[in-house]
Amino acid sequence: MNGAAALQPFPRESLALLPTPLVGLPRLAAALGGPRILMKRDDQTGLATGGNKARKLEFLVGDAPARGCDALITGGAQQSNHCRQTAAAAAACGLECHLVLGGDEPGRAEGNLLLDRLLGARVHWAGSHRKGEGIPALAEELRAAGRRPYEIPYGGSSPLGALGFAVAAGELAAQLEETGLRPSAIVFASSSGGTQAGLMVGARLFGLAPQVTGICIDKAADEGLDFSDRVLAIANGAAALVGLGERAFGPEDVVLRREFTGGGYGVVGELERRAIGLLARTEGVLADPVYSGRALGALVSMIEAGEFEKDGTVLFWHTGGTPAIFAYSDSLAEGN
Ligand SMILES: *Cc1c(COP(=O)(O)O)cnc(C)c1O
Repeated sequence: MNGAAALQPFPRESLALLPTPLVGLPRLAAALGGPRILMKRDDQTGLATGGNKARKLEFLVGDAPARGCDALITGGAQQSNHCRQTAAAAAACGLECHLVLGGDEPGRAEGNLLLDRLLGARVHWAGSHRKGEGIPALAEELRAAGRRPYEIPYGGSSPLGALGFAVAAGELAAQLEETGLRPSAIVFASSSGGTQAGLMVGARLFGLAPQVTGICIDKAADEGLDFSDRVLAIANGAAALVGLGERAFGPEDVVLRREFTGGGYGVVGELERRAIGLLARTEGVLADPVYSGRALGALVSMIEAGEFEKDGTVLFWHTGGTPAIFAYSDSLAEGN
């Protein structure tokens, strides 16, 4: 099947600066004495300091005009990168943006929350709900007030949003072909599932061979659905959209590592601190404390455990999250 042709029918809003660079991390690899490490720099997608959500938003925001929408609604944690990028996408497209954020209004807006405010988003506080549970009720309220909101699920992880990462897989396949390198695995932070699901679909569409290996970064169960099942449902939903069928994938296709969730979502531990320091000091590249830092910590542990051939290649997909560094200054400063 022609991957590009399968993705062609879906309207896309151009929001990300693509392709993102594919770079080597020779000094990190030398420090670990392990395999060659490549890094896909989705921290450089542009859109208000970059990150992986820009790719999903291209398809989600691209779908909004046909539905006559004049506002975007989404939700997440207080330091959600997805919400910050949605706020930027809304601003760039002249749409209103409403965010349902976990927690209560803090005394000082920092990191992503500060950027949400600068980008003109309206923030609604949701207390203990940090996964956008309040989106449908807010959408109802806005409709009653005469608005036409477009609902974007937590993390932008619907089958349609996941197509952004099917595109990304095609982008990577072309870049790898140029380098002639064949990584055995693609390692990245997996949290609402769209990145992983999209990469699975894209790997099928574009004949990308590395094992798509998600690092689960959130211990908490999701809507009562097991996280692997959630990834599988999004992957099969996205596969159906592009003509691969509704049962393109089975449970065995979802490769998720769940032993690196430490103290839970957003709790910075030694794993994250060490990995963030290592990447910064060997390569001059920043990883965030919640997602990319934890996933990188997992990769470092896997390399140190001898999971990869020393003369092999592994790819780390940097999913962004830079602004969160400034909201976690206390826990990052310890020992760094
Ligand atoms: C959202 C996010 C992820 C996880 O991607 P999902 O598609 O939600 O699984 C990883 N890294 C960063 C920085 C993110 O913001």
